[in-house]
Amino acid sequence: MAEVVIVGGGVVGVSIAYHLASLGARDVVLLEREPVLGSGSTSRSAGGIRLQFGTAANVRLSQWSLDFFKRMREDLGADPGLRQVGYLMLVADARHWSDLLANVRMQRDLGVPVQALTPGEVAARFPYVDAADLAGATFCPEDGYADPHAVVQGMARQARRLGVVIRTGAEVTGLRVAGGRIAGVDTADGQLPARVVVNCAGPSAGTVGRMAGVDVPVLPYRRQVYVTAPYPGLPGDMPMVIDYDTASYVRGDGGGLLMGASDPAEPSSFRMDPDDAGVLLLGRTIMRRVPLLAEVQIVRSWAGLYEVSPDENPVLGPVPQLPGFFVANGFSGHGFQHAPAVGRVLAEMILGLPPSIDVGTLDLARFRDGRPIRENAAI
Ligand SMILES: Cc1cc2nc3c(=O)[nH]c(=O)nc-3n(C[C@H](O)[C@H](O)[C@H](O)COP(=O)(O)OP(=O)(O)OC[C@H]3O[C@@H](n4cnc5c(N)ncnc54)[C@H](O)[C@@H]3O)c2cc1C
Repeated sequence: MAEVVIVGGGVVGVSIAYHLASLGARDVVLLEREPVLGSGSTSRSAGGIRLQFGTAANVRLSQWSLDFFKRMREDLGADPGLRQVGYLMLVADARHWSDLLANVRMQRDLGVPVQALTPGEVAARFPYVDAADLAGATFCPEDGYADPHAVVQGMARQARRLGVVIRTGAEVTGLRVAGGRIAGVDTADGQLPARVVVNCAGPSAGTVGRMAGVDVPVLPYRRQVYVTAPYPGLPGDMPMVIDYDTASYVRGDGGGLLMGASDPAEPSSFRMDPDDAGVLLLGRTIMRRVPLLAEVQIVRSWAGLYEVSPDENPVLGPVPQLPGFFVANGFSGHGFQHAPAVGRVLAEMILGLPPSIDVGTLDLARFRDGRPIRENAAI
């Protein structure tokens, strides 16, 4: 009998496992269907980390997680590859600009050192940006990116040391319910009874929820990433530059660059094949904002899945109608950066401790009860 079974060994599942063990939980088992931890959405992430969100809950999740990344080398003996190059969010649309100015006020109240910049200031500080039609921009120097693989492996190593059993190549094929509460999981190797089961299945969250008759409204959407050959025309320590109006971005990556964009017209699917349509999309989005990108040579690309909830906010906590079943899903493209705090908060909820961050508004029941949350800075 396990105390807690975690379904899914991406960054979120591994973080919950690590935090449970670090808070003293015993008999924690993590089951990952792939041979390698973190080979789902986590391995395909751009690794971006920012404090610039539109709700206080998301800002607090980011702040807690950023502190964790900063301490990771000292506390866990693992270098997360954190690079605080900043996030520069560029906006031309007037309505978007008023959203971002409201975000800046809220973020500054929470202690985020974010700045609002005029188009002239953008042109002076970041001369590679075409600032001609901008309404303005926001910049936070604390933001940046880290290495998802290093974070997963660093947390998994510590989790194992603290007694967590991590099994890869172990697909959960069913969830067991008995007496109106969760009772365990089925795998190809047999049943594993458990007092608590946590759904950390990323884009497959809906599938795992259905195994227990629970509707977890999370859908997969393909997102593509393109990496360039070394390009000296842009500074290697350039910030993550976001074209907010088109949800596209570019940042440094070694000597080259890493770019991505979202096609709002692409329907939900489990497709993970990169294609040329993604390059055309970059041409219409981030390449217009950073015209030098027309000179780069794209050498590598991949696609991965965003795990999107109906309001593009995470879905966290216990499932009211099924005691013992917890969800940590629907990160809508931000799960890497929020994983440390989510791991801590879910571990606290499972152990009946007061949560370090109030995530009460991010519960599953909000969709049933008509309490969606607006996050205007989902990229
Ligand atoms: C192109 C791209 C760019 C991104 N950029 C960023 C970014 O810059 N910053 C950021 O914060 N986030 C980013 N994200 C989002 C981020 O990657 C995800 O939110 C995060 O990785 C989610 O982690 P997870 O552990 O929930 O899911 P996953 O990493 O997908 O892990 C879920 C795991 O569950 C396993 N699983 C599923 N079903 C079962 C089963 N039945 N039994 C056992 N195991 C199962 C899967 O194999 C998988 O390993 C990006 C995502 C993509 C695709």
